[in-house]
Amino acid sequence: MFPFLDLSIVNRPYADAINTAIRSIVATGPYIGGNVVKEFESNLSYFLARNGLNEEQAGEEKENPGSLPLPRVVGVSNGLDALRLILRAYIEIGRINHGDEVIVPANTYIASVLAITDAGLVPVLAEPSPLTLNLDTARLERYLTPRTRVVMPVHLYGRVCWDDNLKKFARENNLLVVEDNAQGIGAVAATDGLNGCRSAGALGHAGAFSFYPTKNLGAMGDAGAVATFDPELATAVRALANYGCDSRYHNIYEGFNCRLDPIQAAVLNVKLPDLNHVNAQRRLLADIYRENIQSPYITLPAPTDTPLEHVYHQFIILASNRQRLLRYMTEHGIGHDIHYPTAPHRQPCYQRLNADHSKLKITDELSSKVVSIPISSCTSENDALEIAKLLSQFQ
Ligand SMILES: *Cc1c(COP(=O)(O)O)cnc(C)c1O
Repeated sequence: MFPFLDLSIVNRPYADAINTAIRSIVATGPYIGGNVVKEFESNLSYFLARNGLNEEQAGEEKENPGSLPLPRVVGVSNGLDALRLILRAYIEIGRINHGDEVIVPANTYIASVLAITDAGLVPVLAEPSPLTLNLDTARLERYLTPRTRVVMPVHLYGRVCWDDNLKKFARENNLLVVEDNAQGIGAVAATDGLNGCRSAGALGHAGAFSFYPTKNLGAMGDAGAVATFDPELATAVRALANYGCDSRYHNIYEGFNCRLDPIQAAVLNVKLPDLNHVNAQRRLLADIYRENIQSPYITLPAPTDTPLEHVYHQFIILASNRQRLLRYMTEHGIGHDIHYPTAPHRQPCYQRLNADHSKLKITDELSSKVVSIPISSCTSENDALEIAKLLSQFQ
């Protein structure tokens, strides 16, 4: 049997340290905010800065330690709220307005689109590249209108969506780049971000992170974060997440309560130092799948140019006869899931978007073909080889 994912196994190596950290919060508090949350924000900021160094910055950092440009990080309640807060904050500080358009991949998880419509913005659903399954960065012009203000790359399945095309497109059209980095934490782009940093989530103007328990860095409940090099945005996000106050009992925005819980921050402080190891292990399993899945009935997305660009939140295979493949996998004890069977434009809640379905053929085709196979610390290298062999025998 090859389980798709068992979170109790994933979290077992950290359990003692997590219990100790939580016990200390139980004993002393604080139960909202406080140092544990601040520590996590600072830990994530350093992680993003260090992990995403380009060669020039790495040299500088060696000669002059502490010279790293650090993104600001605000811990928040979950990934959807991270996206909502970024978009609402941009409206509050006057950078965008209700009714502005946001280009977003049509094949994303629905949360990306929910954040856009929640803020009173208009999602413009873009077809992905059938090779990378991410935004087709060379073909974004066709989604531009005079109302386009934001582009939202989603680092789907853990594959970073960032290149010179996207950078140029954003710069030339004066667009804000808001990354949905719920799935790509730890991924490193091959090209500098707008602020030099190459870490997914710190490439554009603002990045949203999710620490939902199944994500590569998972909490034990809901949690999320916003990262940005823009101090004004960071301040507005922090205020909005705390009822809109800039100081106690002084509300400058009609805000929310979207704070990061200290108990979740404690869990994340334990697990973050191990994230690069977790991601490296996922890459190793992905390499085994890539080398050993050989079947005329199964295709794989294109490989990345550099290994660090992918953290394999999911390993996707594509099958035209998915129904049969799923039956075969069940018969052979191979755990699986589908991310995602129904794209946002096909959801009942989004009938009002009136998406022109004939223009979203690639997205619809992907929804009918994608299968996620096991790729987590529950899967050994040997399991991956066995799974690849079994999949290669499918006909
Ligand atoms: C998980 C996820 C989200 C939402 O994160 P939550 O923490 O569950 O709110 C948003 N976008 C994508 C692409 C996701 O995978």
